[in-house]
Amino acid sequence: MKVCFLTLGCKVNQTESEALAQYAAEKGYEVVKETEQPDAVVINTCTVTATGSSKSRKLIHRIVKDHPSSVVVVMGCYSQISPGEIAKIDGVDLVVGTQDRLSVFDYLKQAGAGKTTGQTAGQKIKAVNAVNVFQKGLEYEELPLIVNESRTRAMLKIQDGCSQFCSYCIVPYARGPSRSRKPENIINETKALLNSGYKEIVLTGIHIGAYGQDLDNNINLAGLISELVQLDGLNRLRLGSIEPLEFTDELLTVIAETKVVCHHFHIPLQSGHNRILAEMKRPYTTEYYAGLLQKIRDRLPEAALAADVMAGFPGETEQDHQETLKFIEKCEFAGIHAFPYSRRPGTPAADMPNQVANKTKSARVRDIIGIGQKSKQKYSQKFVGQELEVLIEKVLEDGTAQGHTRNYLELKLPAQKGTEPWKPGQLVKCILKEEYLI
Ligand code: SF4
Repeated sequence: MKVCFLTLGCKVNQTESEALAQYAAEKGYEVVKETEQPDAVVINTCTVTATGSSKSRKLIHRIVKDHPSSVVVVMGCYSQISPGEIAKIDGVDLVVGTQDRLSVFDYLKQAGAGKTTGQTAGQKIKAVNAVNVFQKGLEYEELPLIVNESRTRAMLKIQDGCSQFCSYCIVPYARGPSRSRKPENIINETKALLNSGYKEIVLTGIHIGAYGQDLDNNINLAGLISELVQLDGLNRLRLGSIEPLEFTDELLTVIAETKVVCHHFHIPLQSGHNRILAEMKRPYTTEYYAGLLQKIRDRLPEAALAADVMAGFPGETEQDHQETLKFIEKCEFAGIHAFPYSRRPGTPAADMPNQVANKTKSARVRDIIGIGQKSKQKYSQKFVGQELEVLIEKVLEDGTAQGHTRNYLELKLPAQKGTEPWKPGQLVKCILKEEYLI
């Protein structure tokens, strides 16, 4: 049976789809592209914004239209939030949420048997397996090892779900409470990834700073990192996004005492205005946030510090926005991910008064992006003339190579002349020239 996986949304979704594709290949399925006439298409959906939901709906409609005789499975956050809506779409055969993902394969097995007797997707019984993510005792769902071709950077999922319930966010409803993966499984998977040649491992999850809170062996993110950095062959460990209050002194000390963890930290800010932060139910103030950046810079002066900033939360006035701009300018981020507030039905912020017009939100996003670009450039320029380590991730046809430094500068290195060509997976040292910066 030929199966194709299509993914929308965040890195966690990508990681989960890759894990399922790997599992499928091990079970004897042929994992193919959409153009290779798949017998089944598995769509991993997103609902974090209205755009995520809309893209998910459009993709489902297109797939059932373009592949009328394929089995169509829809899974992920959008399915978890709106299973009934998806089940109503003609041509969708199975709806799975954000848990019990391996049930996809039980279903495909049955569907495969159906195929041999001439049954088509339209004749099969539709099934909805979106389980309640708030049920008692729900644990982290182990998905198998991911080993893909690139052999450079691997995403390693250590945690799922979130219990924070920021007032604008649909994720806790879509993914359920925070669940941590057992440390021994993380360590085993790290060893397997290192054995297959990966040079960099990125710890991902929905809320990795909450790692360990639900486990009873007294481990937290700092403890997990201390164990991982001792593994032979681990050159680079990169951390996914960490909430401000969870970037603790203990974590900073563990990071500062090893050479393995990359000094590149993404710490969501969301707003530079304390009233808005409180209404967002974000548990810190701008003063706390600025103090945290200072503390990190005192110990790791060259660290790349990046943030998410949301524009147009309900009730955000022009003056609030201007204060946010001033604050983020002072933070001198190495990168900003700016995005407009998206009204998600079912969250408290969706019912708040004074929703901001889309046009205003877009203009505010542009302001934030402008500041982000300037501060990113200022940050990168500091390293011109310095020796940096680059992990080669891609070699282009003209022999040039692309990759990232430990502090996440994206570089393009010229083709090698008279020596061995660049190879993906190589860790090389270079003196940064301005023209290398992408
Ligand atoms: S911490 Fe807040 S923004 Fe992040 S996933 Fe949890 S609820 Fe959403």
